[in-house]
Amino acid sequence: MKKYNKAFKFRILPTKAQEILIHKTFGSTRLIYNMFLDKRIKLYESEKKSTAYNAQAKELTSLKKELEFLKEVDSMSLQITLKNLDKAFQGFFKKITKYPKFKSKRNTKKSYSTNNVNNVIRIENGRLKFPKLKCLKIKLHRLVPNTHKIKLATISCEPNGAYYVSLLTEFQLDIKPVPNDNNIIGLDYFSKELFVSSENQRGHAPKFYNKYHDKLAKEQRILARRTKGSNNWYKQKLKVGILHSKIKNSRADYLHKLSKKLIDKYNAICIEDLDLKSIKIKNLAKHTFDNAWGMFVLMLEYKSIFSGKQVIKIDRYYPSSKTCSSCSSVKSTLKLDEKIYSCNCGLSIDRDLNASYNILS
Ligand SMILES: [Zn+2]
Repeated sequence: MKKYNKAFKFRILPTKAQEILIHKTFGSTRLIYNMFLDKRIKLYESEKKSTAYNAQAKELTSLKKELEFLKEVDSMSLQITLKNLDKAFQGFFKKITKYPKFKSKRNTKKSYSTNNVNNVIRIENGRLKFPKLKCLKIKLHRLVPNTHKIKLATISCEPNGAYYVSLLTEFQLDIKPVPNDNNIIGLDYFSKELFVSSENQRGHAPKFYNKYHDKLAKEQRILARRTKGSNNWYKQKLKVGILHSKIKNSRADYLHKLSKKLIDKYNAICIEDLDLKSIKIKNLAKHTFDNAWGMFVLMLEYKSIFSGKQVIKIDRYYPSSKTCSSCSSVKSTLKLDEKIYSCNCGLSIDRDLNASYNILS
């Protein structure tokens, strides 16, 4: 048995009173984040010392005695806020992320998270039981299986005013053996679109996606012309935010369908284990379907777990593009603009198709 995580996201329909409490929690978690970020900065400036999470958690407890309104909101959400601040610093110390920034009140993305202690968060009679909010109306478009334990919940409000809850669950699963047949496909990552398969299928970025992108570029140009901080600027920023979430949702939807199709059809899918960061550095990913590949691979992986199929990753240093899929000889160089792979053995083939053959074999 192995442990896995899976998140379920649902639309929620809070009452007016619940909406007010949700926004108070957004406000309180933001306040705590900014306040404790400020404390950390000041302590570092004066004594060159860093604060640990435990010390800040103690401070929070005494702060709650001073600031009554903090008692109104879910206390777990405040603790998680401190943990997130700590994570932000750990990421900075490890040089993974930038120095933590203050959270703005006008940020269009609002959310807070809370832990599921003593099973207070649960779905009961088609409703969501939640700390402080008690009973929330929820649109259950799918079931959370009984075998899944809810660990963490995040409530968010999108720029268009819609509320969501994301439930992070944990479950255990037996891994089925891979069927021993030839129903296997190789996918070569293709930066301009998404992939080329060993059956010469191409995973395209959908047309609507490019249309959204043109629109986004236009709205961002308008935003750049507005005076930062003015009402019109905020209005335009909201417009850009809505477009961003539309793009995000449609991309996820498209990738879900595409990955499902492949998992349904094949028993195993071979892919390259790419270092997307280094690709980004080389500036190859500029026209990539927004690094959709990373998300696509994750979807393939978890869908394969659920359906007893397998995703096989090829060593990232394997020269899939430079190797001849017919005679296995390896070229010392292959320029990016060489669209056709031609070999001394007589093979002349689309370079990405050649690579996908190699990944498959
Ligand atoms: Zn050859």
